[in-house]
Amino acid sequence: MLISAVLPCYNEEKVIKLTYNELSKALSGITDDYEMIFVDDGSRDGTLDVIKEFSANDSHVRYISFSRNFGKESAMLAGMRFSSGKFTVIMDSDLQHPPELIGEMLIYGLEGYDQVIAQRDRTGDRKLGSFFAKTYYKIVDRLTDVELTDGIGDFRMLSRKALDSLLTMNEYNRFSKGLFSWIGFKEKIISYKNRSRAAGESKWSFASLVRYGIDGILSFNNKPLRFCIFTGAIAIIVSLLYLVFLLIGIIFKGIDLPGYFTTIFTISLFGGVQLFSIGIIGEYVGRIYYEVKRRPHYIVSEDNFDNAGSSLKR
Ligand code: UDP
Ligand code: MG
Repeated sequence: MLISAVLPCYNEEKVIKLTYNELSKALSGITDDYEMIFVDDGSRDGTLDVIKEFSANDSHVRYISFSRNFGKESAMLAGMRFSSGKFTVIMDSDLQHPPELIGEMLIYGLEGYDQVIAQRDRTGDRKLGSFFAKTYYKIVDRLTDVELTDGIGDFRMLSRKALDSLLTMNEYNRFSKGLFSWIGFKEKIISYKNRSRAAGESKWSFASLVRYGIDGILSFNNKPLRFCIFTGAIAIIVSLLYLVFLLIGIIFKGIDLPGYFTTIFTISLFGGVQLFSIGIIGEYVGRIYYEVKRRPHYIVSEDNFDNAGSSLKR
């Protein structure tokens, strides 16, 4: 198998047919030795039926269907595990990732690049959205140990070597953007013009973006924990200085009672700092809790792979 394309799909019945058509056109123009792996992430609409229809008429089509919605990260993981290609392309199923790019990606892949990454520009994005995204990337880049770049997402071609390295990481909380960058290897970035989704709607709400943002910061480092230590240390130093200051006042002027403002101020400030720090620690503890349970990332309800090992199906 030369190329495996992995497409996570969640409620994409409106667009999946278009994607299938364009993708098969692009791939069959390159080689006949390809497969398309559709991962149905527990769609509630007719997505799976449409995919089954493709597979009935086209032997290049493989599919995996989850028992419920497990999220795009899990869907990508399943697709990568099932992929048998020498090169694996990961792409969205809403045509925001143009299939025409695969040819160019393959050229670089054959040249020896292990990750060929497609970077989109931000044409047509909402101004406010792209402002937030850019700021987010700047902050995350500063906060984490891995490098993240604006406009670079999951759309990329991975060599077998890169894919196998990704699959050695079995963490429950997966943050692919970070994992891709963490494994390293020779990278080539090619750029393409941003596209809006061909039909259907985005699954991202503002709340889920914020959650994803926090994931990104927490999955790749322990700097937030260090932040707790630093604020704690600064608070101790400042309060010691203040204590000395008060003590000197008492020695020279005697005890004067009024101190309502300072008392309330100190209690609320430190109450805030403590809650914030406990929150950060709690986030890590929660992640540890999920990691130690070692639950599978997804559960497959059906698929059309005949001889996939049962370990893949979890
Ligand atoms: N997706 C998925 N599971 C989910 C949410 C999304 O597999 O729980 C898929 C979705 O079908 C699409 C891709 O992830 O192929 C990107 O989703 P979407 O287009 O909604 O995100 P956006 O492009 O707006 O960032
Ligand atoms: Mg999209």
